Amino acid sequence: MTHKVLIANRGEIALRIQRACRSLNLPFVQACSEADLPARYVQMADEHICIGPARAAQSYLDRAALIAAAHATGATMVHPGYGFLSEQAQFAQDVAEEGLIFVGPPADAIRRMGDKISARQCMIASDVPCIPGSEGALPDDPDALRAIAARIGYPVIVKASAGGGGRGMRVVETESALTEAVALTREEARNAFGNSELYLERYLITPRHVELQVLCDGHGTCIHLGDRDCSLQRRHQKVIEEAPAPGVDRDLIDRVAARCLQACRDMSYRGAGTFEFLYEDGALYFIEMNTRLQVEHPVTEAITGVDIVAAQLRIAMGEPLGLTQEDITFSGHAIECRINAEDPKTLTPSPGTISHWSAPEIDGLRLETHVYAGYTVPPQYDSLIGKAITHGADRSDAITRMALALDGIKVAGIATNIALHQRLLRDPVIARGGMGISYLGTLLAEETAP
Ligand code: ADP
Repeated sequence: MTHKVLIANRGEIALRIQRACRSLNLPFVQACSEADLPARYVQMADEHICIGPARAAQSYLDRAALIAAAHATGATMVHPGYGFLSEQAQFAQDVAEEGLIFVGPPADAIRRMGDKISARQCMIASDVPCIPGSEGALPDDPDALRAIAARIGYPVIVKASAGGGGRGMRVVETESALTEAVALTREEARNAFGNSELYLERYLITPRHVELQVLCDGHGTCIHLGDRDCSLQRRHQKVIEEAPAPGVDRDLIDRVAARCLQACRDMSYRGAGTFEFLYEDGALYFIEMNTRLQVEHPVTEAITGVDIVAAQLRIAMGEPLGLTQEDITFSGHAIECRINAEDPKTLTPSPGTISHWSAPEIDGLRLETHVYAGYTVPPQYDSLIGKAITHGADRSDAITRMALALDGIKVAGIATNIALHQRLLRDPVIARGGMGISYLGTLLAEETAP
């Protein structure tokens, strides 16, 4: 059967998926909103289709519009990219029920991993190490609550089972604050997610964020592509990522990865996925699984040489992965800086027209971007306009190349966070590596303190 892919996303990731389609000789259709219609990556696509107005709710989040676009253009597969509908089980289900192929795991796996209590239970059942916490949903009874928290040990974090994007969480330091914190988080969860189920975990004080990339082909082959460190975060948004995670014991990664792959088999997982962990005192603790492509996938591609997006497409078409764990080798170190259109002081989005854009040619640099001089960054969407990825023989080599790359990227007309990246690369703690997830927030708060 000849396939055709509907790319149900925008910006840099749409262009990335286009490239993977081209490398596989797969025809594709680029879906776009009215706001994205003039963009070069839309106009230069083999085919494009406008799915609705600029507002994401009426375009990139409109399941029926996307499915109608697939049918109208004869697409047989739908790649959701990241964000938007990529982790919406209902979309995966709708796509499948329409006789189309969703480039991602089965709807059931998305649903199970999207509910954090059920994800946690799946991981415990497959022996993936989890943070000490409550077994299921929290009861309302204050005495029962206190008993659960006392068993876990303070501080604890109350989390909404349906939470996401860093919302629906509250840290509780002492027993006296527990009942109120649970009531507040429950109310927030009900309003924000329409699901008031909560659970408790021990709150780790100085963890790092370490994650594992997996690929499963639906023919029994599940492999991992190693780990990434994404500890440099601002308000739970990743800013710089790297692979591999500095100083983390390789045996630990292999042991935990083996458990993750077992979890994938246990839930009949298919496609690419990421297991996110907090890392503290030499141990990894599962926090959630992302059942989609990650923004930071290129650092893993750089050190393994595996094209993760092409693998997703091939798996979706039913092909075997054609790779075993032994085929995966790791070479050097890679780092990624997310380039955002944002005001460097207020860190709020800075949409507008780019009057100048140029980038240097540097060995080991990969620039993932859909922007160019004359491109207008629309105000409706995420402020990510590109990613710079450098690959070097080791971490310091990758950082040196990144510093050169950032010095050479010239942008005018909009504000960006490039200067922030340049400063971060010169920071002695970051240069050493292994900083915790609160490091960047603290650094920025100190700088802006009166
Ligand atoms: P979301 O789906 O909203 O991203 P996560 O469960 O992945 O929620 O948690 C988001 C972030 O919150 C983590 O990256 C980490 O910074 C912090 N966090 C979550 N759970 C804990 C915990 N038990 N201890 C310390 N920090 C935590």
